[in-house]
Amino acid sequence: MPVAEFSLIYRYFSHLGGGAAVDLSVGDDCAILRLQPGERLATSVDTMVEGVHFPADTFPEDIGFRAVSTAVSDLAAMGARPLGMTVALTLPVADELWLHAFSEGLAAAVSQYSLPLVGGDTTRGPLSISVQVLGALPIDQALLREGANVGDEVYVSGTLGDAAGALAFMTQEWRPSADHAEYLLERFNRPQARIDLGLQLLGKATAAIDISDGLLADAAHIAAASGVKICIDPDRLPLSPALCSHENRETIVLWALTGGDDYELCFCLPPGAPPPPNTTLIGRVEAGAGVDCGLVIDASAGYQHFSDQ
Ligand code: ADP
Ligand code: MG
Repeated sequence: MPVAEFSLIYRYFSHLGGGAAVDLSVGDDCAILRLQPGERLATSVDTMVEGVHFPADTFPEDIGFRAVSTAVSDLAAMGARPLGMTVALTLPVADELWLHAFSEGLAAAVSQYSLPLVGGDTTRGPLSISVQVLGALPIDQALLREGANVGDEVYVSGTLGDAAGALAFMTQEWRPSADHAEYLLERFNRPQARIDLGLQLLGKATAAIDISDGLLADAAHIAAASGVKICIDPDRLPLSPALCSHENRETIVLWALTGGDDYELCFCLPPGAPPPPNTTLIGRVEAGAGVDCGLVIDASAGYQHFSDQ
């Protein structure tokens, strides 16, 4: 990037870099972050490409917030405490209005998650945003996909299927009321990474994952890593009033089971353990393999076949 463009980027991003764990932020060759004694570093990176992960007409504020939330969600799923993040930004042009709005979205996420922006990279090309998150874990604790035991109870946070409903609205497959559409778009554009829940579950949940690819797909990761079967009761899925305004119950359940982008947590607790607030019991861990929701779903065909299996 030419120097003038780089100073622009510096102007819009360098003020987001302060935090308790930050010894050195944007401006040098590396950032330096401090871990407390007895802590380990947890790290993950996620990339969002325009036209693939968000529609081209998405507001830059939402692009910034959502790119951070989806990455931070991985820290939540591990029970990690946010330390900082780096952002690799590929831009077609250095547009000041766009950069200003995008940095407002980043700023909202920085403040909500206490996650300073400590560095990054800027290049020219088709719009894409990679967010690397850094978090701290106790030396002897983490929420992993492995560890679920037969008899454990399976929970999810929040409501499921809202992002899938938002996509159906955006692609004009579904016309919810204006209020419901607004709620669903907010859920898609401003996903809430469940950092506080992850921290609460540390030392309590036997396994956890964040739902980025859909409940069935992500629960299958817990099942595979833990060597168990996850049984889900579709009648227990937590659904928002906005999603429930859809006229077809089968579509609602399909979205809740297979829709991605909700960034809620799915986790397992030993039987009888008290669940945290705003979580819903949706099933149980049994001996076996895979995920069983009592339905046969052909998501690849875009519709489902229910059976009396
Ligand atoms: P280097 O060539 O040493 O990798 P750069 O010229 O790429 O350094 O970046 C200079 C400084 O600006 C670094 O501290 C880097 O972390 C920061 N930086 C570059 N792009 C971004 C960005 N998009 N967001 C935050 N910080 C950035
Ligand atoms: Mg350097």
